[in-house]
Amino acid sequence: MQASRIVAEALEIPPAGDPCPDETNCVLCGIKINKGDLATIFSPGPSFTDAHHLGYREKPTHICGYCSPFLSAVNLRNSQKLFASKVGAFPLYKTENKKWFLLNPPEPPFVAVISDAKIQHILWKTPITRSKELILLQLGNRLLSIRMAKVKQAFALCQTICSRINIKKGTKFKPPIHPFVRMDMEMWEPQCYALRADIKVNLDEMEIFSALTLGDWWALTILIINKEPVKPKPITINKESESVTI
Ligand SMILES: [Zn+2]
Repeated sequence: MQASRIVAEALEIPPAGDPCPDETNCVLCGIKINKGDLATIFSPGPSFTDAHHLGYREKPTHICGYCSPFLSAVNLRNSQKLFASKVGAFPLYKTENKKWFLLNPPEPPFVAVISDAKIQHILWKTPITRSKELILLQLGNRLLSIRMAKVKQAFALCQTICSRINIKKGTKFKPPIHPFVRMDMEMWEPQCYALRADIKVNLDEMEIFSALTLGDWWALTILIINKEPVKPKPITINKESESVTI
């Protein structure tokens, strides 16, 4: 099973291509293609820059029937930010939807992707999540591993730390909602998640923060943002496929 298959089935996109003349592996996701399985010939154009992400480079000839539909512009566009499982595909654009997903992940196996550019080949780079305890989310070319138990522990700690900050009565300042210099959902800011200079934490508390993965920090940022989680509506797309481009 590959990520593109989970998403294709969730979006009711049938596999595409012609019967493969020989046994091989999908150039993109790396899964085995049997002789006769639907596949598309791999013929990258001059703008293809993802060679170092290919799943099979030994003899790159074919793309599997489930990765093939996502080479079309319309399917590529519609699979940039989503999570998908056997119950459907759902958008991951809005913070309130991302928060809902983190707090209510679907039954595994599922796939979660968020592109960090306007349009990206992202699906075939994405591993499948097989446990709610370790959510794998492909953020552009970065793979995030998210352990919600650790994230919830860090979130509770943020609230504890913020509650300790003394705000003088009569001032217009409100207690902060997090103890960091700044947060950054894209995680490019060098100072993001550095603790504010006026915040005091003990060693045990520091250890909780220092044990977080990049993915845990990303999820913590989503939880901290002051928005109620909202269940996203399923994605339905126009099945008319456009010409295959890569
Ligand atoms: Zn494939």
